[in-house]
Parts: sequence; C-alpha cells; structure tokens
Amino acid sequence: MDLGLEGKSVIVTAASKGLGKASAKQFAAEGANVLISSRNEAQLKAAVKEIQSETGSNKISFATCDITEPEDIKRMVELAVQLHGTVDVLVNNAGGPPAGDFDQFLDQQWQKAFELNLLSFVRTIRHVLPHMRETGAGRIVNIASSSIKQPIDHLILSNTFRAGITGLSKSLSQELAADGILINTVGPGRIATGRVRHLDENRADQLNISYEQIKQSSEKAIPLGRYGNPKEFARVIVFLCSEANSYMTGQSLLVDGGMVKAL
Ligand code: NAP
Repeated sequence: MDLGLEGKSVIVTAASKGLGKASAKQFAAEGANVLISSRNEAQLKAAVKEIQSETGSNKISFATCDITEPEDIKRMVELAVQLHGTVDVLVNNAGGPPAGDFDQFLDQQWQKAFELNLLSFVRTIRHVLPHMRETGAGRIVNIASSSIKQPIDHLILSNTFRAGITGLSKSLSQELAADGILINTVGPGRIATGRVRHLDENRADQLNISYEQIKQSSEKAIPLGRYGNPKEFARVIVFLCSEANSYMTGQSLLVDGGMVKAL
C-alpha cells in the first residue's frame, strides 16, 4: 500500500519521547519531512539523532516549543513552512496532566490542564489551517487517551479534557471536509512509554507493592495480554495521516489491545 507520505511536510508535537517520537520515526521511515517539537532541546537533539540512525532519514528537524505557549506554536509552524513550504500533516500531542481525584485540584490546576491538553490543540490547528486550505488537503490526528471511551480512575483532569478533544475533532471534521482536511482522534490504552512506567511506579508506591505486580495486573485486563509498544501505536497514526486514508474523518479510535469494552 502506498502511503503517499514521501516529501510531505509533517509536524509532530511533544515528540522528544514516547508516542510522539515513535510516530515521528514512522513518518521519517516513509520519507516525509518531519519537524518534531517539545520543550527540552537536549532531548529533541537526541531524538533527531535516534530517528536519523534508525531510519536513515536526513529529513528530520526540530523546534523547541512549549505547547502551552502561543508564541512557541506560531514559531514552530512558521519554521515548518520555511523549511518545507507548507504543512500537510499535524499530529497533536502533549504531555499528560497530573493524576488525581476531584478534591485534589483547584482552578489553577484545571486551567493548566485545559491549556496543556485542549487549548494547545486548538492553537496548533488554527496555525496550520491556512496552509492546508491553500493546498486543499491535510491530515490532522489528535493523540488523546482510552479515556475518550471510558474514564480512567484517578485521572480526572485527563478524563475531562480528552473528551473535549473528541468534541473538537468531530466538529472540525464537519467544518473542514470541504477543504479536503481529514481529522481524527486516537486514544492509546497502555503503550509502554516513560509516562506509563511513571504512572505504574506511582501506583505501586501507593499500594506498597512492586512495579512488576502492578504491570502484571494491568496486563491481565488487556485481552491481548500485554502493553502495546510505541511502534504499534505509531503505525495507526501514520496510516490515518496518509493518502491511503481518504475516507475516515471525525473518528475516535483506540489502540488498546482490546482493553476498553465500550462499543
Ligand atoms: P511521555 O513518554 O511522557 O512523552 C511526553 C512528551 O511530551 C515528551 O516528549 C515531552 O517532552 C513532551 N511534553 C510534555 N509537556 C510538554 C509541553 N508543555 N510542551 C511540549 N511538549 C511537552 O508520554 P507518552 O506516553 O508518549 O504520552 C503522550 C500523550 O499520550 C500524553 O498526553 C499521555 O498522557 C497520553 N497517553 C499515553 C498513554 C500511553 O499508553 N502511553 C495512555 C493514555 C494517554 P519535553 O519534556 O521535552 O517537553
């Protein structure tokens, strides 16, 4: 299947690690021009080096960008256009908000999570749209969480704002179809990244059991019996952003090994 990504201009945000980096690597392997961003320059440089050495691509660059800063987003999109002429693909990603229950958070934490996990996506989309509209085509994928189908205990900030992403994405799929722009949302279940390990370690500490015990009990709840690896997740992102996907838009789908039982 020809994904048609050779030479396309792709932005992946929050991509120095984890799911963002894995997605960027798959785009690079397809011959796309990829711009990755996140806050930490040293991590970004290390990610660029890793992607170059694993894919042989020399079409990968980076921009430092705190996704909660509007000016950083503007600069990042301008750099992609300067380097590659336009933006064909946007993968929206951000760090996860803190874990916790309702009584633990005040307005300040709610506002921060809103800016990190919802408003940032609005802003990146606003900046790439003129370029996609000019070419009459585009693909946007938002990375959310399995909580878009089933809220996760002790993650109330994530549960709230990821649901907002699905509303945004569905509404935009209606508004942008006439411009040839397709937009979808993908929720990871438990994909083995630094964040998932960190959440598991915290939970193990709280329950006074080992990390391995927590992981085993999580894996038992997954019909495929294991955590996913970032490459398995990234392949879905890349398909949705490719020319091979010409008829899926406004969808919210999970890459979760069958974990969520909602229809
Ligand atoms: P990760 O391994 O912790 O990577 C997070 C990435 O986000 C890093 O590259 C980090 O780089 C970047 N980042 C954090 N805050 C940022 C900010 N303010 N501006 C720009 N970049 C920022 O996490 P992950 O597992 O890949 O998860 C990615 C997203 O999917 C998160 O929102 C997470 O909650 C969600 N998710 C993941 C899973 C899973 O199974 N992995 C499940 C459900 C939901 P810097 O530190 O350099 O900025």
